[in-house]
Amino acid sequence: MNEEKKCIVCQSTSQQMPILEFAFKGQKLHVCSQHIPIIIHQPDKLQHLLPDLPNRPGEHDD
Ligand SMILES: [Zn+2]
Repeated sequence: MNEEKKCIVCQSTSQQMPILEFAFKGQKLHVCSQHIPIIIHQPDKLQHLLPDLPNRPGEHDD
C-alpha cells in the first residue's frame, strides 16, 4: 500500500506520529494525534487547510 497518510496540519506521517483518519465531504483525511484538538476545538483553523469547510453555523459577529 503506497498511500501515505499525512497529517493535514503538520504533514507528519504514520511513521512519525499516530495518525487518525476522518472523513469530510467524502474525502478521507488524516490528522496526527497532536492535532486532533484543532479539529475539535478550532475548526476555523482548518478553513485554510480545507477550503470547502463552511463557516460554522450559528457563529455570530457582534
Ligand atoms: Zn499534525
